[in-house]
Amino acid sequence: MARRPESSSKRDYYEVLGVDKSASAEELKKAYRKQAIKYHPDKNPTGQEEAAEKFKEASEAYEVLSDAQKRAIYDQYGHEGMRSQFGSGGFSWQDFHHQGDVEDIFGDIFGAFFGGGRQQRRSRTGPQRGRDIAVRFGMTLEEAFAGKEAEITFERLEACQKCKGSGCKPGTSPQTCQQCNGRGAIRQARGFFAVETACPVCSGTGQMIANPCDECSGQSMLSQKAVVNFTIPSGVDNGMTLRVREEGESGLRGGERGDLLVRFDVEEHAMFKREGADVYIEEGISFPMAALGAEVEVDTLHGKETFTVPAGTQNHKMFRLKGKGMPSTTGSRAFGDQYVRILVETPTKLNARQKELLAEFAKEGGENFKPGHRSFFDKLKDSLGV
Ligand SMILES: [Zn+2]
Ligand SMILES: [Zn+2]
Repeated sequence: MARRPESSSKRDYYEVLGVDKSASAEELKKAYRKQAIKYHPDKNPTGQEEAAEKFKEASEAYEVLSDAQKRAIYDQYGHEGMRSQFGSGGFSWQDFHHQGDVEDIFGDIFGAFFGGGRQQRRSRTGPQRGRDIAVRFGMTLEEAFAGKEAEITFERLEACQKCKGSGCKPGTSPQTCQQCNGRGAIRQARGFFAVETACPVCSGTGQMIANPCDECSGQSMLSQKAVVNFTIPSGVDNGMTLRVREEGESGLRGGERGDLLVRFDVEEHAMFKREGADVYIEEGISFPMAALGAEVEVDTLHGKETFTVPAGTQNHKMFRLKGKGMPSTTGSRAFGDQYVRILVETPTKLNARQKELLAEFAKEGGENFKPGHRSFFDKLKDSLGV
């Protein structure tokens, strides 16, 4: 299923940054830096508003594309995916505390411009909750039907064991930032206003690490492989998200772990088409069966089912097998229904006796019928000499 609904007004993030879809992290960073410098308001005293818009646009594009998880979602679902509310847990991408490469790269240069909503105080003293991690989990329709125990392996950030997440060489401790005296923020005059912005020296943390831990280079966290088990609820549908509490990135200084958000991708099935809890299939029957009526056996997710096709059934007639669909995750019914669309097959390979009988059948019905009547296609073949 090709799903890439784009909102018409929003420009493609790759286009905004002027890079290919295959751009590496390094290329993205370069492209963003170029844009950010070009559109920085200080460089655009006239037309500030337009420049500010462009700057914001580029920053947003970079924020998404520089995060591998967000980028993957964006590549598949476009802007819509960035806005989606996943599942009933009310998860949105805004839940991610992307403690921005954006700020890390430009905090020193453009700290002021990232003021307002984007600014984060990353205190190095209080507990800090770990970030949520989003992963995708693919499965077949049969697995979604039955539900199952599943296991997923992924990389997540863990607090560095060596420095216990402080980022400091053991035996040393962080020092108060001289620039902001540990406030994490400085005041800057901007036009008529004095704006409070993240301290460019300590990136708003209020502290400096003089002797970084050599295990984590002062980053406090290290990427490690994690294996998490969870239960796929039966009836799960595309795009639903399961929140596994406290299986995300580890927190710091006693802060709790973030959550793991497992987003389900249910593969398309060769035979069953799914719409919510209902399932659709097509079933071919012979022309005599349709005319005379018959017992028909079809596959359902619950196993084989037999139902009666009454005499005189027309092509494309739909039958409902109640309760033979997917487990329902909403409403009062336990299962959806299965709909069977009947396709009446016209016989193609007839022997002489069958032809004779059909011709007689037609005559009996009063049809002015001439056996061996040549079709348009036959005449066409003759004219082409094939
Ligand atoms: Zn460390
Ligand atoms: Zn500072």
